[in-house]
Parts: sequence; C-alpha cells; structure tokens
Amino acid sequence: MEKKRIYMSSPTMHGEEQAFVQEAFDTNWVAPLGPNVNAFEREIAEYTGCGHAAALDSGTAAIHLALKLLGVKQGDVVFVSDLTFSASCNPILYENATPVFIDAEPDTWNMSPEALKRAYEKYPNPKALICVHLYGTPAKLKEIMELCDAHGTPMIEDAAESLSSTYQGKHTGTFGRYGIYSFNGNKIITTSGGGMLVSADEEATKRATFLATQARDPARHYQHSQIGYNYRMSNVTAGIGRGQLLHLEEHKAKKKAIYEQYKQAFADIPEIQMNPMNPEGDANNWLSCMTISEGCDVTPDQVMDALDEKCNAETRPIWKPMHMQPVFAEYDFWPHYTDRKSVGEDIFARGLCLPSDIKNTQVDMEDIIRTVKGLF
Ligand SMILES: *Cc1c(COP(=O)(O)O)cnc(C)c1O
Repeated sequence: MEKKRIYMSSPTMHGEEQAFVQEAFDTNWVAPLGPNVNAFEREIAEYTGCGHAAALDSGTAAIHLALKLLGVKQGDVVFVSDLTFSASCNPILYENATPVFIDAEPDTWNMSPEALKRAYEKYPNPKALICVHLYGTPAKLKEIMELCDAHGTPMIEDAAESLSSTYQGKHTGTFGRYGIYSFNGNKIITTSGGGMLVSADEEATKRATFLATQARDPARHYQHSQIGYNYRMSNVTAGIGRGQLLHLEEHKAKKKAIYEQYKQAFADIPEIQMNPMNPEGDANNWLSCMTISEGCDVTPDQVMDALDEKCNAETRPIWKPMHMQPVFAEYDFWPHYTDRKSVGEDIFARGLCLPSDIKNTQVDMEDIIRTVKGLF
C-alpha cells in the first residue's frame, strides 16, 4: 500500500464549517453577500482588533483594492518586499505602477530597513509600501514604520501568511493604513479561497466593498461612474471561514509545536538553521523552514528529494525572490548588503520549507526528522 502523503500545509476542517455552510443553504443565501459574509468580517475585526474589514474572494484582490484606495496609478513607485510570493506585487502591475523591490534582512527574512533607507535616497516619494510578514514571522515594523512616517508613505501590510501573528502584542495586519489576509487553501485558516482587506478607516473598507461589487452607484437602474470589480466573498465560503476562525488559535499552537519540534531535533546539527523569529513578535509559524550552512555539501534539493522518496512528504523551495523573476527583471532592486549576494538570493539558495501540516502525527514528524538528519 502506498504510504500516506504528508503535506506542507493542507486544509484542516473541524465540522463547524459545514454547519455555517448548511445554514447558508437552508436560508438560500448562496450569493456573494449574506449573513456569513457580514459576520465573518465582524469576527475577523474583533479577533484582530483591526477596526473594519471587507471580505473578498482572494488576498490578491485585497492588495489590489488597497492600492486602488491609495490612488496608485501609472508611473507611481511602490516599494515591496522582494522575498515573497508574486501575489504581493502583481497588483502593482495591474495598475501599471512601478514596483521597487526591497531585499530581506537576515534576522526575520522580511523587508530590510537598511535597504529601504537607501531606496528612499533614490525614490523619496513612493506612493505606497507593501510589507510582507513572510512565513508568519512579523517584520521589523518599528524601523520600517519610522521610515514610512518620515516620508509620509502609507503602508499596506501583506499579512496573507501571518494571520494570528502579533508584533509587540498587536496583530500583524493592523499596523498599516491597510492590512490584508488570505484564506487560500494552504494558509493557516482557509475558506477554500478568499481574502480580507482590513483598516481602522471604516469609510475605506466601505469603499473597498463598493469597488468589489462592480462600483454600482446608488440608483434604481445600473449606474456606474467608476470601474468596478467582482471581488466579493461568497456567503458559502464565508461560512467555512467562520467555522475555521473558531480554531485559529488551536492551529497556531500546533504550528508552533511543529516549529519547536524541528528546532529541538536539529539543534545538534550545526549545518541546519531554522527560519529566524522576531523577538518583538509572536509568530504563527505558518511554515517551518530550514537553511543549510554555506559550504555544507548537502543541498536543499537533496533534502526535498529524500523527504519525497522516503517519507512521501511534500516540501517546497523558499519563495524565489521577485528581482530574480523573469517577469520583473526590468525593475529596480535594493539589496541589504552592498558588497555581497542579496539576502533573499542567499536564503533561496540554501533554504526549503518543511512539512508543516497540523495533521502531521508524531510518527510523521519523527520520520521526517530522521530522514533529514540522516543526510548530515
Ligand atoms: C497567499 C499569499 C497572497 C495571496 O493570497 P491569495 O488569497 O492566494 O490571493 C499574497 N501574499 C502572500 C505573501 C501570500 O503568501
């Protein structure tokens, strides 16, 4: 019999999700609006303390609308984390604006305040800055926000991977002018697909909802003065989200336990380092990642192949930095160091994401750990 697949991060359902979905069917709210949508927005706002929320059909849509709300348009410069998933920066291009990629720093793998400072010397007036909390680890928000404030740059927090992570006791996603969360299938909680735009500014989230529902002016007939989008979350998927939210803290505790188990198990292998934590924050440990010391002859590919072949376990390379992507090659990039390889490129070359699924059993975990250690 084929060994069961061990996933990197797959959906974990509990039962309440189906009850909320059933309610949507029973009341015939099978539409991109309804009581689950409103309740899910309220519940996320209460949980994170963000103020107000607009439920959308993806995290990418939330980033796009945040840029629209800030008036980002053709020719505007937008600073964005370089070590991330392409969804962080694609919406900049939807608006024909110009991304400028800011390297990671080695302490949290997030946007480097040093690189950002140098980017500001060339571009003193970017229209916005998109800061990612990679793999759930909070960025150096204090340093980044000081620079943003000094230049009057509004920050969008891409907290797609970091829902439930906190920085100095406050939820990631609630520091910027706008924050965004994702409920894609692999995230810490899921609606199968979905996202949320959050803000302290209620007018802004109302405007986001307006834009997300085809920008229909208040009139009996269909009247439009602006271009709109079909970005609203469905009442069915919002039901899944409400059920999942009841288990978010439990998911976080399990993700943390997985990270701690890897960290302890690899403590006696000097060639293995776990992804760093920010001492100012409390991460959700969405994905546990490792890097291999420079000069060690074991490669990330060998670790990934061994886990696939011996444990039937899914892994993934670290996100390939945006400045190394063919589609973004023409855009400016600001490295953390001025005299060596960029931090993002280095982490990409030496790192990988370990299986971090909260349904991993102790047997799975021990199997993975034994296989990795066997290579060193
Ligand atoms: C998943 C993700 C997104 C996009 O979210 P979707 O809901 O999949 O559109 C954006 N940024 C980062 C960093 C992500 O990991």
